[in-house]
Amino acid sequence: MNTDLARYHRQMLLPGFGDKGQQRLRDSTALLLGCGALGSAAAEMLARAGVGHLVIVDRDFVELTNLQRQTLFDEQDVNDELPKAIAAKKRLEEINSEVRVTAIVDDINHTNIERYAKGVDILVDGLDNFETRYLANDVAVKHGLPYVYGGAVGTTGMAIAFMPHTNDSAPWQKSPEEDFSTPCFRCLFEEAPAPGSSPTCDTVGVIGPLIAVIANIQVTEALKILTGNFDLVRRKLLNVDVWANDFYELEVDSAYTNGDCLCCKQRRFDFLTGDSGSSAVSLCGRNAVQVRHRQDKGGFNLDGVAARLQAHGAVSVNEYMLRSQISDSNKTYELTLFPDGRAIIKGTDDPQIARSLYSKYVGT
Ligand SMILES: [Zn+2]
Repeated sequence: MNTDLARYHRQMLLPGFGDKGQQRLRDSTALLLGCGALGSAAAEMLARAGVGHLVIVDRDFVELTNLQRQTLFDEQDVNDELPKAIAAKKRLEEINSEVRVTAIVDDINHTNIERYAKGVDILVDGLDNFETRYLANDVAVKHGLPYVYGGAVGTTGMAIAFMPHTNDSAPWQKSPEEDFSTPCFRCLFEEAPAPGSSPTCDTVGVIGPLIAVIANIQVTEALKILTGNFDLVRRKLLNVDVWANDFYELEVDSAYTNGDCLCCKQRRFDFLTGDSGSSAVSLCGRNAVQVRHRQDKGGFNLDGVAARLQAHGAVSVNEYMLRSQISDSNKTYELTLFPDGRAIIKGTDDPQIARSLYSKYVGT
C-alpha cells in the first residue's frame, strides 16, 4: 500500500477501491452547491474520504438555529458571524489537512454556476430550492457532469445520482452495451412546484438525523462515481421518512425512456440561459427588494403560505396579497407576497438576502 494513503486504509480495503480508487479520489474535485445541512454533512464525509479538492459555494451565514442539524458548525462560528463556506473550510482543514478547500461566498445563479463548475468532476446538491436544482441539472447535462441529488425537509428526504446522457462519451458510457447513463433531474421533476406550495425547512422544520441519512447516501454515490464504480451507482430514487419508518425506492429509468425531457433529450438549458427562474431587484430608496418568480403555472395559495408563516410572526392575508413579519438572523423583515408569486421584501436592499428569504420562507 502507498504509505501516503495510510489514513484511508479502512476504505481502501473495500471492493472496487484499493490504491487506484483512493488515488482517483485524491485527484478529484467536488463542487458543493450549498453548504447548509446536506452540503456541510456531505463536505465533511468527502473530506474524510480524501477527495482532493472541495469547492464550496454558499450565500449564508452560520446561525444558532442551524446547529441542531448542521454538524460541521459550532457556537463559535455563530458568534464570529462566519459565512458557512468559510466556517466549513476552517473545520474541514482541521479534519483533513490534505484536502484543498476553496470557499466561495456567493449566491449560485445562472450567471456564475458554469464558472464554479468548470473543471470539477461532480456536483453535490446541498441546495434549498428547486430553481437552483434545475440550474445545476442544466450544467450537469450540458457539460456531462454527474450530479448527486439530495433533499430533506421535515422528516422526509430523497436521494439519487444522475449520470446524464451526453452526446460525447462520458466515463459512464463505456460502450453501447455498458452505458450506465441515467435520467436527469428534469426527467423526474418536469416542472417545479409552484412557489409557496412546498414546505421548506424554515417553515415546517427538519429533524437532524435525517440530514446524516440523506447526505451520506449522496456521498456514497459520489464515492462510487469518483472511483469509477459506475455499475454500482444508485438508479432508483430513494424516499425516506425517518419518523414514519418508511424507506422505499422508485424506479425512474422509464422517465427518460418514455419521456421527452426538455433538458437531456431536447438539450434546452432554460435555467442556464436565464429564460426560466427568478429575478430580484432592489427598489431604489425603499430599503426593499422585489423578487419575481417566473412560473408557467397559475397563481398559488396564499392561505397555505400564511399557515406556515404563522410561527414566525404576525401574518395577514386577503385575496390580493399576504403580509408577514419575518425574523431571520436577528433582523426583522416585512414580506408582501402576491398570488402570482411576486414578493416585496422590506428591510433590505440586498437582492441576495431577499432571494434567500424568499427560498426559505416562501419556497421555490
Ligand atoms: Zn432529462
